Amino acid sequence: MRLILFGAPGVGKGTQARKITLKAGIPQISTGDILRQQIRSGSPLGQKAKEFTDQGNLVPDELILDIIRDRLGKPDCAPGFILDGFPRTVAQAEGLEQLLGEMESQLDAVIALEVGDEAIVQRLSSRRVCRSCGEVYNVLLEEIPKVCRHCGEAAIEQRADDREETIRHRLGVFNRQTAPLLDFYRERGLLKSIDGDRAVEDVHQELMGLLA
Ligand code: AMP
Repeated sequence: MRLILFGAPGVGKGTQARKITLKAGIPQISTGDILRQQIRSGSPLGQKAKEFTDQGNLVPDELILDIIRDRLGKPDCAPGFILDGFPRTVAQAEGLEQLLGEMESQLDAVIALEVGDEAIVQRLSSRRVCRSCGEVYNVLLEEIPKVCRHCGEAAIEQRADDREETIRHRLGVFNRQTAPLLDFYRERGLLKSIDGDRAVEDVHQELMGLLA
């Protein structure tokens, strides 16, 4: 199964991708997670990306497409993958189409998770994330543990770009640069939409139903 989970920041793409990964055994590929790892390690790619991610702007398409080309070529992607946070521009979607063509492969579905902007601002400003494994917590819904319930690391923190001003900027970037992809995938007959403003488990059940 080759799947794109699509939607604005904070709609729950990462949470849903992790649940599908556990069930279907195919990797979640989050360009945001890959960039954050590169930034932490201080690599040349990380140094280039940091100025964009800190401001909530998109990292240039060529850098992102290089990351994806490299990642989709790894053996664990042979049975399929879930793309989370990629593509984010029409140029990235076209690059992906070309890459999959070269690999004699194609997408099975693009699932858009829909959540209103104000709900997203509330979700993201109360979000905490494990820097080590990506597990997501919410200060409004739970007590944040000292160590991550998933990987056991003491690495739960607020992302620098999860502050209200940057969140609103990221939503603007999504609406201008990423939302046009809805038409791109609708025209290709791949797009399905789900109401993401519900309990995680309810969204997961509907998603699995769409993929069955
Ligand atoms: P995310 O974790 O998906 O919200 O991504 C965090 C940040 O990483 C974004 O605000 C962008 O600066 C950058 N980023 C992640 N994925 C992409 C992408 N596909 N294209 C451009 N920038 C990206």
